[in-house]
Amino acid sequence: MWSPNQPIVAMKNVMKSYGDFDVLKGISMDIMKGEVVCIIGPSGSGKSTLIRCINGLNDIQKGSITVEGQEVHDPKLDKRLLRRKVGMVFQQYNLFPHKTALQNIIMAPVKVLKEPRADVEARARALLKKVRLEGKENSYPGELSGGQQQRVAIARSLAMRPDIMLFDEVTAALDPETVKEVLVTIKELAADGMTCILVTHEMGFAKEVADKVYFTDRGLIVEEGHPSEIFSNPKDPRTKAFLSQVL
Ligand code: ADP
Ligand code: MG
Repeated sequence: MWSPNQPIVAMKNVMKSYGDFDVLKGISMDIMKGEVVCIIGPSGSGKSTLIRCINGLNDIQKGSITVEGQEVHDPKLDKRLLRRKVGMVFQQYNLFPHKTALQNIIMAPVKVLKEPRADVEARARALLKKVRLEGKENSYPGELSGGQQQRVAIARSLAMRPDIMLFDEVTAALDPETVKEVLVTIKELAADGMTCILVTHEMGFAKEVADKVYFTDRGLIVEEGHPSEIFSNPKDPRTKAFLSQVL
């Protein structure tokens, strides 16, 4: 049985290919409960693929990934249970345009978890408050800014009560003025103890909030460590080159 002093997510020598193309060439990482981990690296290095493997959206060819001790790629594992535990937010928030913010959040817990609507609605209202969107319950996505929509998407994911949250470049498509409000939401979530795994280009956020940063390049982790080490004293030339472009 898994206990919280063991990694909540453990990846061991994970390899993944699309046809002949090796995207992940042996990725290992251990993430503890409550940690905030940022994955950075050039476009095409396999970051999205990597985090999609954690909730079983992508299959793997070799290695192992466990979430709370359970092998993600065990064919017997109930993928729906896994995805309840591991929430994911994407760059494109994909809210239902004809449903209000509140309805968007309520839908999955009512339909998938079969929870009583009144309970879910109370939780959804609390979540909207948590992501600082009190008063926007009845707004449609089209009436909200990109940053507000992304916070609804985060609340929607949290409504399933996940143990782990994955964020794939969730601020990349946002106007600069709304990026910060989304990062604040994630920071607060992290402060509440949520295990967060983020692919991000927000180096300021990574420096301030991450417990650990992984730098990936062409399917490999080339450097990992506390942000204070990685950012001020990168050792690998690829990390140095990347950081000199983005910092
Ligand atoms: P990143 O998120 O770091 O930009 P990705 O994980 O999206 O990287 O992609 C890594 C590599 O895998 C890229 O070269 C991309 O073109 C390729 N790739 C991603 N998804 C697929 C797919 N479904 N089929 C084939 N190749 C893919
Ligand atoms: Mg990506």
